[in-house]
Amino acid sequence: MKRMSAGGGWAAVRYTLEKAGDAGGLWRLYQRLSRKNACKTCAFGMGGQKGGMTNESGAWPEVCKKSIQAQAADMQPPIPLALFERTNVGHFATMDPMTLEYLGRIGHPMVLKAGDTHYRPIAWDDALTAIADDFRGRRPDALTFYSSGRASNEAAFLLQCVARAAGTNNVHNCSYYCHQASGVGLHQALGSGTASVSLDDLEHADFAMVIGANPASNHPRLITQLVAMRRRGGQVLVLNPVRELGLERFRIPSQPWSLFFGSKVSDLYLQPKIGGDIAVLKGMLKALLARGGAIDRPFLSAHVEGWPAVEADAAAVSWETIERHSGLSRAAIEDAAARYARSKAALFMWAMGITHHEHGVDNVFAITNLALARGMVGKPHAGVMPIRGHSNVQGIGSVGVAPALKEAFAERLTRLYGIEVPTTPGLDTYRTILGMDEGKITGAFCLGGNLYSSNPDSDFTRRAMQKVETTVYVSTKLNQGHFHGRGKTTYLLPCLARDEEHQTTSQESMFNYVRLSEGGSEPATADMKSEVDIIAGLAARWLPKGKVDWSRFTSHDTLRAAIADVVPGWEDLRDMGKTKKEFTIAGRVRHTTEFPLPDGKARAFVTPIPDNLPPPGHLMLMTLRSEGQFNTVVYDKEDIYRAIDRRDVAMLNASDADRMGLRPDDIVRVETTAGALDGLRVRILDVPPGSLVMYYPEANVVVPRKIDPKSGTPAFKSVPARVVKSVERPVAHHARRAPEEVAVGQP
Ligand code: SF4
Repeated sequence: MKRMSAGGGWAAVRYTLEKAGDAGGLWRLYQRLSRKNACKTCAFGMGGQKGGMTNESGAWPEVCKKSIQAQAADMQPPIPLALFERTNVGHFATMDPMTLEYLGRIGHPMVLKAGDTHYRPIAWDDALTAIADDFRGRRPDALTFYSSGRASNEAAFLLQCVARAAGTNNVHNCSYYCHQASGVGLHQALGSGTASVSLDDLEHADFAMVIGANPASNHPRLITQLVAMRRRGGQVLVLNPVRELGLERFRIPSQPWSLFFGSKVSDLYLQPKIGGDIAVLKGMLKALLARGGAIDRPFLSAHVEGWPAVEADAAAVSWETIERHSGLSRAAIEDAAARYARSKAALFMWAMGITHHEHGVDNVFAITNLALARGMVGKPHAGVMPIRGHSNVQGIGSVGVAPALKEAFAERLTRLYGIEVPTTPGLDTYRTILGMDEGKITGAFCLGGNLYSSNPDSDFTRRAMQKVETTVYVSTKLNQGHFHGRGKTTYLLPCLARDEEHQTTSQESMFNYVRLSEGGSEPATADMKSEVDIIAGLAARWLPKGKVDWSRFTSHDTLRAAIADVVPGWEDLRDMGKTKKEFTIAGRVRHTTEFPLPDGKARAFVTPIPDNLPPPGHLMLMTLRSEGQFNTVVYDKEDIYRAIDRRDVAMLNASDADRMGLRPDDIVRVETTAGALDGLRVRILDVPPGSLVMYYPEANVVVPRKIDPKSGTPAFKSVPARVVKSVERPVAHHARRAPEEVAVGQP
């Protein structure tokens, strides 16, 4: 596949025109995108009451390929019922994520009863009554409630209210598999688990360090900000094992000069070994300490606890150790430190290259240590910024979709709304899958997402999820979870997309900015329901009459008032439906040195350098997403910026391939302690020697169940793996079926 000269550009424009065709024409797509709804893809955020394709600073057009992909996919017609009649679950289970995504919208409630081979339609009332009767017969702690970042704040808040009213804290969300390590680390270090900055800060900072993230593919509008930072004299430093084209050069479609000639994105690009971030960040700190004046001593002594130990640790570690674990030279790390030392307002931003490790929280601490060293948290235009994924992933956590609630939240929920918060600890996402395997979780309610595909060790996950007696999915389109992650009885309940809602909904961006979406677009069928109507309808049928009148909670205004009553900092949400005034959540953006920890001080933590050197005969595997993908959803098989033409590939450094006698298109088998994947084609990628790269979620089959003990986040990276030349004939990636799937019946 031909390598492009820059990310973005005409390819993105061409792609938009193609997608417009899928969505029924450019005008139709434009109309949907320009309505007053928050972007339904990433949490960088745009749209809302300032208008579609507009960000909170008023900049237009803020739209990208990801947004267009998701919008066009939601505008598909419904899946014909005849397809469900003629396709059994075993056949659906052989379909890859992209095939399922493009089958269309789920247009009607469907059920797969125990022993059935086919999903078939069911009336809404019958479905909700049957689920209610089933859930009523189970112990509350045998149930689990999961939400993806698609859900609105109103639906997510209601979901956790219902779960707690039923008597369980088994409430969790998709961030437990992406940024939970960021939340835990930032909470402990700075007192708040989200970004400490606003978009305005990003527009004024003079230094950005982008660590373990590929925003060119996953959050494209962030690239516009990085390019702007460089134009005003700032520096952008990238730390990523993979040399990503879009982080070097990007053609910004909305800027004619950039579109034609491309814009440089980064000033310094460092490619550490996989899992080598702590070594690099500690090396930068060591270099700063050696420069003397680069450290903000007054800030550290007045506002940071634990600094002397961190400083002593950085001073004690040898450059030899740092170089060995980072794979970078001392000179390169000192260069990075010197650039940081010159900045007046620095931002640190990261994604799953940081969190998807067994040492994910320590990675975050290494970042906060480096930021604190120069007093880059607690003042305007500087701070830390986890690059969050799905559009409302931050909001669903804020409104209580988590196993533990803050004390004030729980107290107000009980006092004001009569919902007793149970005292038994709730299970997070990974422990839920273990609970399913152990037979402790027998009923599951999933508000969006694809819990199956987002888990490590796919074979184990499939077995665990298929032990559940009753599983409910509230979904817009089909995904592999509906087949591999089905319960014995499974309901598919079709919901409206955000821009099809009948009432306004709200969403929170990664900058703690809450938007209001107006909804109102025509849904694909009249048989789809609002997320809130589905949850409230279930609660009304399931839970005893009395304390809570669930029918009141079908009003989004009432739900917003309840959130404002209960969730600290969300008071401005109360009248948002009427005022349409969007807002930044109080107490999150940190422009002063008062940190919300008991003594008002931030914390520095010593971070040991983990053993990231693969055993002899192994490479170090990391999984990642492609340009044609968002989370577990695959829109295109090609990964155009990396010039990779397919997804069933094992990507490695040219020198490793030579050493192993491998050439592009050779067929290999990848083996780890979790299992093996056959029929992969070799591709060469610009990564440090010793690295192996594969696509998530397909590669989850070989990702072992190793968890960061501090956050519960699975380690989808830093997996020792063997690559073996295969003598077997190539097999299609999706053709790999578990025996129990085949047994369900042939197509
Ligand atoms: S960067 Fe994110 S929020 Fe902005 S348009 Fe793209 S997907 Fe939407």
